[in-house]
Amino acid sequence: MAITVVGSVAYDTIETPAGRRERCLGGAATYFSLSASFFTDVRVIAVVGEDFGKRQEAVFQARNIDTRGIEHTAGKSFFWEGSYLENINEAKTHNTELNVFAAFEPKIPEAYSDSEFLFLANIDPVLQRRVREAMPDVKLVAGDTMNYWIKDHRPALLEVLKGLDILLINDTETKMLAGNNNLVQAARAVMALGPKTLVVKHGEYGSTLFHGAKIFRAPALPLEEVIDPTGAGDSFAGGFFGYLAAQRELTPAAYRSAMFYGGVMGSFACERFGTERMQKLTRAEIDARFKLFRELTHLD
Ligand code: AMP
Repeated sequence: MAITVVGSVAYDTIETPAGRRERCLGGAATYFSLSASFFTDVRVIAVVGEDFGKRQEAVFQARNIDTRGIEHTAGKSFFWEGSYLENINEAKTHNTELNVFAAFEPKIPEAYSDSEFLFLANIDPVLQRRVREAMPDVKLVAGDTMNYWIKDHRPALLEVLKGLDILLINDTETKMLAGNNNLVQAARAVMALGPKTLVVKHGEYGSTLFHGAKIFRAPALPLEEVIDPTGAGDSFAGGFFGYLAAQRELTPAAYRSAMFYGGVMGSFACERFGTERMQKLTRAEIDARFKLFRELTHLD
């Protein structure tokens, strides 16, 4: 089953306690698609500027990701600068330049039209909604967002939430979106806005699945060193949604395993700067870490 994803393809400048990197390849759709590509076929919709060249494109192609929906246009690619110096679990944003995304009109290639799964990765909710509306026949739609859009683009975001089956956000964003500091109450309030399933990420502490009336908590791998958490959330989403897209049936058990695969992919993303770890990853490493996640949580 193929996933179409729309979201940022970007350059990131990142500072963490482990060091600083200038303008490395990043973006929510980039991390998502690299991660999901280990489970299923992935097709990207985004826009990049003249600063995005063959070397960056090759990162996608090496994982067989369909890039026909990445439009190349005059101007500069999306740019984000953030740091994790005070809190390794939450990025502090220093600069966001939408650049070519400001005037982006998403076009969906004909070859993408049979995608059964749609992921609306982090980007302007107006763009997320346009893509959602252009693909009305998909079987399952999941999405992500962040404080930047929750704070200043709320009406557009509320429209997106109505069209989502699954929302994946972190705990601070859940509470911010609901205006409620209790996680369970906040989760219920967010689900009342549209998504029947909510995945709340807690950084190094794991993730919680709210699926109908049921709650399931999955672990995160305690890492000895977090080099760069950028993209961990999107890599989690790629593992979670990629795994689901590869299943014959979307049973409650499939959702629970998807939570573990999300944690597995998020943990890998943190081990190197930018997309470095995702680019070198193998399926065997993913399977071994999934086993480790099971051992972490099983009583017998
Ligand atoms: P995360 O998985 O949450 O760490 O996402 C990190 C990625 O989100 C970075 O590679 C950024 O390029 C991207 N990003 C940061 N801010 C925004 C934004 N406002 N809209 C879309 N993407 C963003």
